[in-house]
Amino acid sequence: MTESIATTCPYCGVGCGIRARVTDGTVEIAGDPAHPANFGRLCSKGSALGETTDLDGRLLYPEIDGQRTSWDTALDLVATRFSEIIAAHGPDSVAFYVSGQLLTEDYYVANKLMKGFIGSGNIDTNSRLCMSSSVAGHKRAFGSDTVPNAYADFEQASLIVLIGSNAAWCHPVLYQRIVAARARHGTKVVVIDPRRTQSCDIADLHLPLRSGSDAHLFNGLLAWLHGEGCMDAAFVENHTEGLADALARAGGAADGDLAAIAKACGLRVSDVRRFFELFRDHPQTLTLYSQGINQSSSGTDKVNAILNCHLLTGRIGKPGCGPFSLTGQPNAMGGREVGGLANQLAAHMDFANPDHREKVARFWQTTQLAAQPGLRAVELFDAVADGQVKAVWVMATNPAVSLPNAGAVRAALGGDVFVVVSDCIRRTDTTHYADILLPALAWGEKDGTVTNSERRISRQRAFLPAPGEARADWEIICDVANRMGFGDAFDFPSAADIFREHAALSAFENDGSRDFDLSGLSALSAQDYDRLQPVQWPVRAAATGKGTERLFADGRFYTPSGKAQFIAVSPRGPENKPDGAFPLIMNTGRVRDHWHSLTRTGKSPRLSQHTVEPFVAIHPLDAGRFQLEDGALAQLESGWGRMVARVAFTTDQRPGEIFVPFHWTDQFAAQGRTDALVAPAVDPVSGQPESKATPVRIAPFTPQWHGFLLSSVAVPSAVTQVDYWVRAAGAAFCRYELAGLREPGDWEGWARAVTGATTQDEWISYCDAARKQYRFARVAGDRLVACLFVAADHHLPSRAWLSGLFSRTTLPAEARRDLLAGRPISGQDDIGPTICSCFGVGQFAIEKAIRERDLATAAAVGDCLQAGTNCGSCIPEINALIRSARQSSQDQQAAENVA
Ligand code: SF4
Repeated sequence: MTESIATTCPYCGVGCGIRARVTDGTVEIAGDPAHPANFGRLCSKGSALGETTDLDGRLLYPEIDGQRTSWDTALDLVATRFSEIIAAHGPDSVAFYVSGQLLTEDYYVANKLMKGFIGSGNIDTNSRLCMSSSVAGHKRAFGSDTVPNAYADFEQASLIVLIGSNAAWCHPVLYQRIVAARARHGTKVVVIDPRRTQSCDIADLHLPLRSGSDAHLFNGLLAWLHGEGCMDAAFVENHTEGLADALARAGGAADGDLAAIAKACGLRVSDVRRFFELFRDHPQTLTLYSQGINQSSSGTDKVNAILNCHLLTGRIGKPGCGPFSLTGQPNAMGGREVGGLANQLAAHMDFANPDHREKVARFWQTTQLAAQPGLRAVELFDAVADGQVKAVWVMATNPAVSLPNAGAVRAALGGDVFVVVSDCIRRTDTTHYADILLPALAWGEKDGTVTNSERRISRQRAFLPAPGEARADWEIICDVANRMGFGDAFDFPSAADIFREHAALSAFENDGSRDFDLSGLSALSAQDYDRLQPVQWPVRAAATGKGTERLFADGRFYTPSGKAQFIAVSPRGPENKPDGAFPLIMNTGRVRDHWHSLTRTGKSPRLSQHTVEPFVAIHPLDAGRFQLEDGALAQLESGWGRMVARVAFTTDQRPGEIFVPFHWTDQFAAQGRTDALVAPAVDPVSGQPESKATPVRIAPFTPQWHGFLLSSVAVPSAVTQVDYWVRAAGAAFCRYELAGLREPGDWEGWARAVTGATTQDEWISYCDAARKQYRFARVAGDRLVACLFVAADHHLPSRAWLSGLFSRTTLPAEARRDLLAGRPISGQDDIGPTICSCFGVGQFAIEKAIRERDLATAAAVGDCLQAGTNCGSCIPEINALIRSARQSSQDQQAAENVA
């Protein structure tokens, strides 16, 4: 057993502290009770990290054109090709596309190499897709990219507004803090989201506003608050500028015309009034927002519309109130600190400021500092496509699947461009296009820092050895820089040395002119760096009580005048409007138990069983319009791409709008890539893509057969050649959902092939060609090895009971007999689809307990089944099942009364 190592979760921007320990090769994960982001709590994803650290699928050696090579050969070629291209075509002919998964130290040297020594601004990050509209909005209003709050404000707020944020699934531990604050202090919660999301479970009010109408609502709120006399006159007078213009632009709303606001947002007047009154009556209002605001062609304006309301009421720089942008990725904030976005310089300094450029150049001792911002993500890959960018280095991200119009990104990467990919995974949709692959360390193996949504810097610490020849990203970048002739500036013996330089740059001739100031950390010894405790910036050398400063408490902002700026906002809808050809608006987002493109969560059996397939959530009225059936497959098309997804009816969607999660890639599904459909429209200020409003059309996808395969052994490629397949990890097996436009000529032969059946195995089969029912099972000795079920439609037996048979060392005789019936043997229950990942509790089990034991609360369900008692991520779903059971019982009662 190793000692327990304190580190940080690699998933979302909450930045939870983790204690990791390796015992007999098994990684044990627990929440760190001492970390102020989570105080020991973890969500389902963090809890399951121990299932994701194996070496299966890892990239372990450098490769050139798919062939293993040495580090020296690979690095020489990267440096030579980049240098040759720069010499022939100039510095802007090359680019880096990096990631919020990188550690700050990796990010720092990547930015320093590109902007400081190659001399181009062409480094952008996948955080562009996540929160660049917040960055731009902050800079317009505050003169700095500042999130002024801390998570501790959750406990002090009396009203929490969640807008464009399904925190219950996307920032689960923060959501649990809100749940706890609400229970303890009676905190009011308003959720503003076109969908009724899981976060509505605790909402006092849900505003299901029309997609893209957020700025209408907050412009209206600004004018209404002003009309109600809610302005903090002293704050506005002394610390802000531009209110008159902002109010004038708010237009009709200035008359307090709630009906006009409600109409623009597709809401009830009474709901708008209630929200406005709640906002008016709660000086301690915290507005949390994330991708629902940011991922828009007017995302920056939406951010400023929110900030305007906080400036008007002076609700900023004080405990328990303020606008709070929640970052999506673990180190999106760290990327912003170092200048990972193409329009930033470094250490929160700007290209537009000649003094900043001069300072950074002098600090880095370079004469080649980039003079202007570089290409932002969507523009960058457009430039790859048109040959302007001739070499691109992709670090720790997967643009071939995650950028909008992802098909065009693939075409660009497949063209005449030199592609380097450094990653920890061998086979991704992007590594497919790499000329050179460089193996990077993964979470658990690397050392550095990350910064979470509340500006808290935490250490990620290695607790696993480096596998194969994998190396830290910062080492790889420094080695390339050295080979390009910039060695003196990249002579960093350790991550701690990089951090010290990063901190020193933040402090360089700062004198209070920039809030991002780590002067108090710029002289950390190696030992101090190893022991660094989570700390919020700024960490000023001169300050006492390091890390506790409340930004903007003195009403001083980082604009030239020192005053915050109201921004006049003219609300704009999504750039692409639905029409006769593409009548629905597609919203995209995350599911509870998966992260990004599944490279990590896709390894975890317990995470993979919650949402197995890409799905399209659609209102039953729309489903009826387009002849869709709940649980069947549908084909979605936009002007940019197409996909196939499982239909899920729900009244949680507004009619006319659908929701599709974006996680699936070619490695996990056929035709499951959501971002292939997403329009490449971007916000003109921030460059952030509009990932939440693409016009699409939908129609039934009508295969000749549906099926599923559960297998404990590797499956042949025949399975991934059918028209529709999705792969999900299970405990001791792998699950494939299947559908085909053509039937195999010989079902039995195909079944034997895909299950790998041998003549030594017991082979159980059932074939009814007339009803197109085929069922096969391969049993070896006493164990179930694989089973394949096929039907004419999607009505197939539950997978849950069959899945459980794979972990049995001895298959009972009754199970063999009833296996192909697809129903549990007597005395056993089918638990149904997974709800609680931590304890493997399924929907049917929870419904049965609610029904038979008359359980009325999630706590009672937890007492009975354990569900929801670990991370709590499934509690909104348990509550939904309780509500549904209550409704069914009332309906039944009403029917009996009528009878
Ligand atoms: Fe990780 Fe979950 Fe915490 Fe996010 S909320 S940092 S995913 S444990």
